[in-house]
Amino acid sequence: MPINKFNAPHTIKLILLALACLIVLFNIVELFEKITFPVDSQITEWNTESFWKAPWGNSSVHRGVDLFDDLGAKVINPSSGLVLKSGFSNNGGNYVYIISPSLKVYYFAHLSKRLCQTGNYIRNGEPIGLVGDSGNARYSPFHLHFSIFSCVPIFRHYDFKAVLGWQKMFYLNPLEYLKND
Ligand SMILES: [Zn+2]
Repeated sequence: MPINKFNAPHTIKLILLALACLIVLFNIVELFEKITFPVDSQITEWNTESFWKAPWGNSSVHRGVDLFDDLGAKVINPSSGLVLKSGFSNNGGNYVYIISPSLKVYYFAHLSKRLCQTGNYIRNGEPIGLVGDSGNARYSPFHLHFSIFSCVPIFRHYDFKAVLGWQKMFYLNPLEYLKND
């Protein structure tokens, strides 16, 4: 009887099982995950209702929070991570995307200045840029738009009532993750 060295259906099942275990693990770790406040300032203000507010400008919902501060307040990395992209867009103005080891992508927008480059590894608390009003925030008070995207769905955030509520498994409410110190 020939020995079947590669059993495809079996291998696929194993891969799916490993993936499922990984997703469950991420969902457990996420319960304890806390990040540093991303603006190094004592006077930052925010509206606790602004996350997932709809409608919101060009986008159907507001997938982040706006942290208001003075022009030039220092924006710091809330977690360690790799700069996926540091660039400029019409909406975000000067923006930075950073991916953390727990596969969260942090998005910082409307910076007056970027202090990091694509490919940099930035440690927790190190500067990323400065608060500003670039992009479509030109006529708003100076603020940092801050979003957290999870590459792995976080099931407890599924929201049956909200507009596009399933997306809340991926776009997390930053206010729930900030360390209160
Ligand atoms: Zn915003």
